[in-house]
Amino acid sequence: MYDVIIIGGGPSGLTCALYCYRAGKKVLVLEKGMVGGQMTLTTKIENFPSIEKIDGVTLAMQMYEQVSALGVEFKFEEVVSCDLKNNIKAIKTINGLYQSKSVYICTGASSRQLKAIGEKQFIGRGVSYCATCDGALFKNQDVAIVGGGNTSLEDCLYLSNLANKIYLIHRRDEFRGDEILVKRIKDIANSGKIQLVLSSEVVEINGDNKVGEIVVKDKKTNNLQTIKVNAIFVAVGRKPDTEIFEGVEINESGYIVTNEKMQTNIEGVFAGGDVRNTPLRQIVTACGDGAVASASINEYLANLH
Ligand code: NAP
Repeated sequence: MYDVIIIGGGPSGLTCALYCYRAGKKVLVLEKGMVGGQMTLTTKIENFPSIEKIDGVTLAMQMYEQVSALGVEFKFEEVVSCDLKNNIKAIKTINGLYQSKSVYICTGASSRQLKAIGEKQFIGRGVSYCATCDGALFKNQDVAIVGGGNTSLEDCLYLSNLANKIYLIHRRDEFRGDEILVKRIKDIANSGKIQLVLSSEVVEINGDNKVGEIVVKDKKTNNLQTIKVNAIFVAVGRKPDTEIFEGVEINESGYIVTNEKMQTNIEGVFAGGDVRNTPLRQIVTACGDGAVASASINEYLANLH
């Protein structure tokens, strides 16, 4: 019987494990793949306080080594189902069944992909799913952004202060994002810095060792055009990984609803990091959620006894 089972070995889960273990709790971290979550997709992190520059895998390994050296137990097993409604939580993985008094869900959210030819091949070499993480790497260069929601529009405005030229590619004529953002973008587009490529989809991403050009199809005419860019930022939405958490409240976008203490609607079940409804999804905010959750978990466990 564990005090807390943490589902997800990204920065939020590792921080929660660190804090809970230091508070004397028996902790198990379940991770289906590699520790670190989304940050392992980033080659250069320059916005984690106190570290000037680091790649995502190295930062993930540093976090993992710190926590595992303390004695936190890890099992690299995929969770297939959970029974969370009772005081004793039952977590079933492909290998076994684990029980705990509380659960911290931090399974993250995966970026939707375009499924364009070459997309997977160039991840980390010009294909990015996070403009705020990787945008600075392409200062004064030409870049493309794909998507028509608020994320792509905000990314476009953010990159307009960094990049030389931005191609904003959207599959429809109308943007889904807020009108105020669309207006700002159109104002900048008038100066030539941003070029709108509407009713179009990226069908291919090419380059030698890194991205050099993209092939874009006009959906109305089926004409293909090649655009030379050094990077392509894909912002076509994210999918939170919540399917296995039956009974946990999610919002209309699929993210887990928590209060400011990271409590979900189920007693003893907490959630944080990218999987929860939050205005910013960064490594530091995920770590912050993990720390807050640990305090709430400790309080919950104290009241159980
Ligand atoms: P989103 O609103 O779901 O928009 C995704 C965009 O990607 C849509 O324009 C969609 O096109 C397009 N798309 C989806 N699949 C595609 C594909 N396979 N190929 C090409 N394009 C594709 O996602 P989001 O922009 O990440 O925003 C998620 C949520 O967070 C939204 O509720 C948003 O308002 C919110 N958000 C808010 C703020 C803010 O308030 N500051 C900032 C960022 C995000 P269609 O339009 O044709 O469907």
